[in-house]
Amino acid sequence: MNLPTLVSPGDLYMDANAQRSDKKRLVNKVAVITGGARGIGAATAKLLAENGAHVVVADILDELGKSLADSIGGQYIHCDVANEADVESAVRLALVWKGKLDIMFNNAGISGPGGSITNLKMEEMSALLSINVNGVVHGIKHASRAMIGNGGGSIVCTSSSAAIMGGLASHAYTLSKEAILGVARSSACELGVHGIRVNCVSPHGVPTEMLVSAYRKFLGKVDMRPEEVGQIVGENGSLLRGRSASVDDVAQAVLFLASNESGFVTAHNLVVDGGFTSASNQMSFIYQG
Ligand code: NAD
Repeated sequence: MNLPTLVSPGDLYMDANAQRSDKKRLVNKVAVITGGARGIGAATAKLLAENGAHVVVADILDELGKSLADSIGGQYIHCDVANEADVESAVRLALVWKGKLDIMFNNAGISGPGGSITNLKMEEMSALLSINVNGVVHGIKHASRAMIGNGGGSIVCTSSSAAIMGGLASHAYTLSKEAILGVARSSACELGVHGIRVNCVSPHGVPTEMLVSAYRKFLGKVDMRPEEVGQIVGENGSLLRGRSASVDDVAQAVLFLASNESGFVTAHNLVVDGGFTSASNQMSFIYQG
């Protein structure tokens, strides 16, 4: 069915960049961002730095990560989040560099293998879980060690719309993102007394390298462009018809969770999905007349 477009998406829904305030919200805060070299992590690294934060970019893409860190006056460290010692080193770098850690963004993740549950290769699933789940647990563990007794802080973990609605991603990825919600909630219960807030951000359909390469693979279109993926998501995966999420939309959500503006928000999952997982527009004809 062709649903009516009541207003142009651009009229109502301003781009996240256009809404940026001049007021810096993270002056002198120190942040570590895993998976910070590109995509959502890179956009967040830039936004946090623009807001006055000192940012450690932790990733396995050394060239990209280093050049980004240089461009924002930050630090880069090679960090495979599946390896606990690497995550510990990233946190230590923040402590050695600036003497504290205020913000930990556990964002690194991979999409992993698709395919039927009947053919699921357990070793492939374990490899994915070691990054998507263990990586986040390593981050919460070492960030909270640094934050306890040191003024508290904000830990943000990247989950996904796939943790809320089935059928949006592979079995292993879905499982991993749901596990992140669980460990974030349970950590928030323990750490609140230390002034540490633990929250999740759950993006949906952001045309980053991860999503675009998944579309290329599953649709067999090797030359698919990010704009095309954004268009598909905007048309089919968003109540804000025609508008899909950008990396800046997610970065803005993380900025909120990292800053004092969200000081009473913990154990929360901030879903950045244009309403997709909460409501359906399949019946919008009932609003006519
Ligand atoms: P991306 O592929 O552009 O970025 C992922 C980053 O994580 C890359 O810089 C990559 O090098 C890094 N990374 C991968 N494995 C790593 C490891 N073992 N150690 C350290 N870093 C590693 O994709 P993105 O969309 O920006 O993904 C960021 C996060 O957002 C992921 O956790 C992803 O699952 C999540 N997410 C993305 C979407 C989306 O639509 N793009 C939706 C929901 C959730």
